Amino acid sequence: MSQENAGQNLMDKLISLCKQRGIILPGSEIYGGLANAWDFGPYGALLKNNIRQAWIKHFVTSRDDMVLLESGVIMNSKVWEASGHIMNFTDPLVDCKKCKKRFRSDHILEQRSLEPGYAKEAPVDWSTMRCPECGGELTEVRQFNLMFKSTMGPVEEEGATVYLRPELAGGMFTDFKLIQQANRKRLPFGIAQVGKAFRNEITPGNYIFRTREFEIMELEYFVQPTAWEKAFEMWLGVMKSWLKSLGVADNSLYFHEIPEGERAHYSKRTVDIEYHYPFGLKELYGLAYRTDYDLAQHAKHSGADLTYQDPETGEKFIPHVVEPSMGLERTVLVTLLSAYHEEEAPTAEAGETDRRVVLKLPKHLAPIQVAVLPLSKKEELATVAQALAQDLRQKFTVEYDDTQSIGKRYRRQDEIGTPYCVTVDFESLNDKAVTVRDRDSMKQERVKIQEVREYLKDKFGS
Ligand code: ATP
Repeated sequence: MSQENAGQNLMDKLISLCKQRGIILPGSEIYGGLANAWDFGPYGALLKNNIRQAWIKHFVTSRDDMVLLESGVIMNSKVWEASGHIMNFTDPLVDCKKCKKRFRSDHILEQRSLEPGYAKEAPVDWSTMRCPECGGELTEVRQFNLMFKSTMGPVEEEGATVYLRPELAGGMFTDFKLIQQANRKRLPFGIAQVGKAFRNEITPGNYIFRTREFEIMELEYFVQPTAWEKAFEMWLGVMKSWLKSLGVADNSLYFHEIPEGERAHYSKRTVDIEYHYPFGLKELYGLAYRTDYDLAQHAKHSGADLTYQDPETGEKFIPHVVEPSMGLERTVLVTLLSAYHEEEAPTAEAGETDRRVVLKLPKHLAPIQVAVLPLSKKEELATVAQALAQDLRQKFTVEYDDTQSIGKRYRRQDEIGTPYCVTVDFESLNDKAVTVRDRDSMKQERVKIQEVREYLKDKFGS
């Protein structure tokens, strides 16, 4: 099988597993769907929330130089004028005159640049370019603003035009001074947030890789002008340790130093962290040194004083900013891709094996941490099993399942990545013990009911 087919195959299998198991569902499906809109089902919502919480711990609450913010999705439109989004947050698009499909012209060029003999530096003559799908002629390149527009106020004609935020940084910059003063912060310090962003993408797709509604986990780290390089290296290190904690292998990542001509004009260094997705090497996260550009722009447009006074030297200046920016859905995607395994595993029949699909998610991210599985629905077993499940719920996310054969129930839990299954059998009534099965090794251990909670706490390291 070619590499491309193998990749597509893996994506198809993951998408189908996620739908079957209620992890990620096609949005508005009963109405025929909505292009590239996905809902996070019961397990997906838990997984996403665990990742969100783990991110907040890793980047914010485990440090004393970070604070969390939750700013509005809709802000004063002047924010987007100052940041340049109204003028410049555009993607270049071309239409195919024959099949009417729409493409990002930079994506077409990216594709072309991989062809042998393609001269990247030569000026592009669009009349010679052809549609990648049907070979038809393409239109001229047009700029298309990606912001979703709406109207605020009860009467549409009189209301003010507002935008759904296309990124989160605006809130961190507009609230910078208030937070710095109210929270008595000294440089270096950072403001982080996690929340929804909206972009009217021209070509959404590749599952949850590029959608029009998504979440960003982002922070602005404010530093003295001379301290940015140290902060940049520090955050690069934190992002690497974060990716490790998700179970993402080093060799699936590529750290792309963006060369000078391709960086935003104000940025002195940008690194894109790229990932070898089954559909190609593409951006996962970004890390950028943004100088004092954003605060200076907001100070200029709002008239507010956004300088910081060094308490020791008395010097006043506009802080410089290092910004790590991470998509939550792309994080969910690489976590799932890293966790997805298929392997031969023994069945209940002695000496026989079959293929099992297992999500080897990091334990702290698994949507269900412990499954309680009574061997039979009989009341004497159900009473013991339900009491145990209720006790474990004080500490863990627990699922109680008493349907189908035990083999099928194990496989189901493997497919949603549950690290431990606790089986209550008839012997449990006599020896007051249960069997705990480990997802990855499939080893089983007999543990006293009274000690199960402590045993599992130990396993989760909590
Ligand atoms: P791309 O080049 O892929 O369009 P970008 O460079 O415009 O991305 P940023 O503006 O840096 O992306 O956004 C921050 C992060 O948000 C990205 O690193 C990515 O993880 C995520 N992201 C951006 N656009 C989308 C989208 N349409 N759907 C899902 N995640 C996205």
